[in-house]
Formats: sequence, structure tokens, C-alpha cells
Amino acid sequence: MRLRNIPRAEGTLQAHPAVIKRPEAQKGCWRQVFGNKNPIHIEIGMGKGRFLLNMAVKYPEINFIGIERYSSVLLRAVEKFDTEEFNMLKNVRLVCMDAKDVEEVFAQNEVEKIYLNFSDPWPKARHAKRRLTSTEFLTRYEKILAKGGKIEFKTDNTELFKFSMEQVREAGWILENYTYDLHHHEIMNAGNVMTEYEEKFSAKGNPINKLVAVRK
Ligand code: SAM
Repeated sequence: MRLRNIPRAEGTLQAHPAVIKRPEAQKGCWRQVFGNKNPIHIEIGMGKGRFLLNMAVKYPEINFIGIERYSSVLLRAVEKFDTEEFNMLKNVRLVCMDAKDVEEVFAQNEVEKIYLNFSDPWPKARHAKRRLTSTEFLTRYEKILAKGGKIEFKTDNTELFKFSMEQVREAGWILENYTYDLHHHEIMNAGNVMTEYEEKFSAKGNPINKLVAVRK
């Protein structure tokens, strides 16, 4: 994603009620943040927020937390959130943080599902540990997911997808389902909510890969 330095980003994010400023202070207490006991789903690397916000409309009985590393990108999601289509949502919170710190922000069993959509591929082998589906990250996710908790991962990058399938197996997770062509897989594509990148790459004719894996 192309980044620009947007000076107003920090101030806007600080002032916005849906942006959680000290997420580590909510560890173990996220249900109180939402004021209900509904399940919590998080999206890591949410980008401009299209997927998260549409999921929140579609599933009002789920609490959604979007995580994005860059404030300039999160600002775009906040601007989308503030439009008439989404500003009534009560089940969305947004966090600006690096996913490597998820264990400091969520307690064991606090999260039911993690969405990873079009995660950065980090193509160099020496950067493999930075991939959000590496065993290093899966170990972090195990520490916050409930028993039976899942990750759902979509990408058009077949190399990253194959790597992710291997990592899931290596980490001892159960590969529940997968496809190399989501949009032509009747069952897995049912109810699919597109992300910004998914829209862009599928319009170019790239098949979309998806896997669903269950925590060991
Ligand atoms: N998920 C969106 C989509 O599918 O349209 C955006 C995909 S974009 C390629 C990847 C996003 O993940 C970027 O916004 C990037 O800043 C964010 N990201 C990458 N690594 C991250 C990390 N370690 N923690 C939080 N966000 C991260």
C-alpha cells in the first residue's frame, strides 16, 4: 500500500471515539469496551476498512476490531466509518498497532476469529518471519484465540498462499478448508465480503486463494 504522510492523521485518530488509544489497557476487558458479550473478531492489516465495515453491517451480533499499522491508512478507514453508510455501527473499534504485539492487547480466549486479507507478502526469505501467516505469528494468534478459534486468510499471491498452507500444518493447526479460486468455489464464496485489494486484483483476472484454519 502506498503511504503518504498525512499530518492530520494522528489528531483525527486521537479524537475519534471508535479508535482505541491505549489498546493494551483493554486486555481481557474488550467485551466491556463493546458493552456486551458478543464474540470478537479481529482483522489484522485492515487497510482502508471496506471488509471490516461491511462485515460489521452484515453481522451486528459480532464485535469487530480492525488493526492497522499505519495511522495514514487507518485515517482512511476512519473517514469511511464516518460516512452515512457506516456511522451508526456500534460493533466496530479500530486500533493503530503492529500485529506483532497482539498478545499485549488481547487475553487468551478473548478472540474468536482473525481475518488476514491480502497480507503483505514479504517475498525475501530472510523476511519470512514478518509474514502474518508465519509460524511466529500463528504462535501469537494461539495465545489470544479461543479454543476452536480460526483464522481466515485471503490473498491473490499464490507463493504466499502455499507458504501459509505449509506454516499452518507446521504449527499443528487444522486446515479446515481451502481453495485456489475463491470466486468460483460455490461453498466458500457464499456470503464472501470483498476487500479493497480483492476487488482490485480480481478485476485484473487474478484468482483469489482462501484458507480457513482452526487453532490447535
Ligand atoms: N486488508 C486490506 C485489503 O485486503 O484490501 C489491505 C491489504 S494491504 C496489502 C496490507 C495492510 O496490512 C496494509 O495496510 C499494511 O499497513 C497492513 N499491515 C501489514 N503488516 C502489518 C502488521 N504487522 N500489523 C498491522 N498492520 C499491518
